[in-house]
Amino acid sequence: MEDKNIHIKTFGCQMARLDTALVSAALKDKGFSIVDNENEADVVLINTCSVRQHAEEKVFSHLGNLKHLKETRPELVVGVIGCMAQRLGSELLEHEAVDIVCGPGLIPQIAELVNKAVKEKQKSVAVTEKIRTASAENPALEDFESVFDRDDKDILGQAFVRVMRGCDNFCSYCIVPYVRGPEISRPPAAIIEQIKRLANQGVKQITLLGQRVNAYKYTAGEKTYSLADLLSMASEVEGIEWIRFVTSYPAEEFYGEILGAMADVPNVCNYLHIPAQSGSDKILKAMNRRYTARQYLEMLDRARQIVPGIEIAGDFIVGFPGETDKDFEATVNLVEKARYKNCFVFKYSPRPGTVGDKRLKDDVPLKVKKQRNNQLLAIQEKISDELSRQFLNKEVTVLVEGLSKKPHLNKAENQDNPQLVGRTAGDWIVVFNGPENLAGQFAKIKITKTSPLTLFGKLS
Ligand code: SAM
Ligand code: SF4
Repeated sequence: MEDKNIHIKTFGCQMARLDTALVSAALKDKGFSIVDNENEADVVLINTCSVRQHAEEKVFSHLGNLKHLKETRPELVVGVIGCMAQRLGSELLEHEAVDIVCGPGLIPQIAELVNKAVKEKQKSVAVTEKIRTASAENPALEDFESVFDRDDKDILGQAFVRVMRGCDNFCSYCIVPYVRGPEISRPPAAIIEQIKRLANQGVKQITLLGQRVNAYKYTAGEKTYSLADLLSMASEVEGIEWIRFVTSYPAEEFYGEILGAMADVPNVCNYLHIPAQSGSDKILKAMNRRYTARQYLEMLDRARQIVPGIEIAGDFIVGFPGETDKDFEATVNLVEKARYKNCFVFKYSPRPGTVGDKRLKDDVPLKVKKQRNNQLLAIQEKISDELSRQFLNKEVTVLVEGLSKKPHLNKAENQDNPQLVGRTAGDWIVVFNGPENLAGQFAKIKITKTSPLTLFGKLS
């Protein structure tokens, strides 16, 4: 048994957070202790994101702090795992602070790499060579994923299950296909087995994860399984009350079936995250997104017809190369028509190795990117505010996550109960005061006040 403390810091998306949970469960299984405080750690692992340059800069800045820490604690071991590890590989070992570099495809080796660094003071790099031509099958990762489901630090009652790895879509701005490798759908039997195990541990909500989760496709014998099949199979697992899935790519294949499953299977949440990225057909084409703004809006209309009460969220990139005021206007237009519950807006960040970076000049000035970003968010805020008002004086059901960011708020007026946070099936964030042991449970909340991003209410 090991007696070392490990601290894991995560930068990145839900995929990265799931990797952290798996790595942390695997290390605990080998006898390491996971600690919240970096200062108590013998080993610090940083799980990284490469999607935007800013995410990488944050990691380098943290590595700078760790370098200083190592001056007083030379025995401290530092590892970089995740997308940035895969992208930069041995280049990262040149950083004075770094002892271990491990890409997302090789995380099953993490305990071994940590041991080597701690005991033998050996630095190591484990990244997938020629990731795009490497076999998409990764039995070690498949085993790892099915043994280590979740971490006890995950939100009570909730778990993520990866149904697909990698991506083959090659949107021209995106680094994901180069750091997560070829797209592969995991076998449905393994996924359902995993969901059953999670349900036995008390998990009530499952989120199925994939870069374009709606493209899930697995052929076994005569049958081809789609995400719609997974949703209905998962819904039959005893104990699973809510099922979500992210992220969807606007494509026709399986779309009707998936919407049908959302409408017909009661425990599939009525929430669709389906990024448009732009409202200009010229920019969509340059992004290698294979739809037009009109086709995209028609898909949203269909979703609203088939799944009553569906909540839709989107992502946008502003300042993509060649984006003129007119192109941006088209994006504004699309956001106004789409009436998202919320949307995420990112400033274009050229990623080395992508087609966008190689062939297109990052020609929109930062000032313009910022202005467009703010303008789009302001438009969306107004829409979210209008949509949120429909909940006023209504009762909603939430799955309670735990303490809110400001748990002390309104405590005195609520029998000393802290402020909690939960989410509706449609992904609205709801805060209210209640006993902390509601975390992981469903609760009914009467909404008394609304705002663009948060609903406020009282336990009913
Ligand atoms: N697979 C998902 C999809 O297709 O929407 C998510 C991919 S990515 C991790 C999440 C979001 O980051 C994307 O939807 C996109 O808006 C944004 N993004 C990706 N690459 C970017 C880049 N180079 N610059 C700015 N934003 C980017
Ligand atoms: Fe990146 Fe496009 Fe794949 Fe999403 S679908 S991960 S944006 S390449």
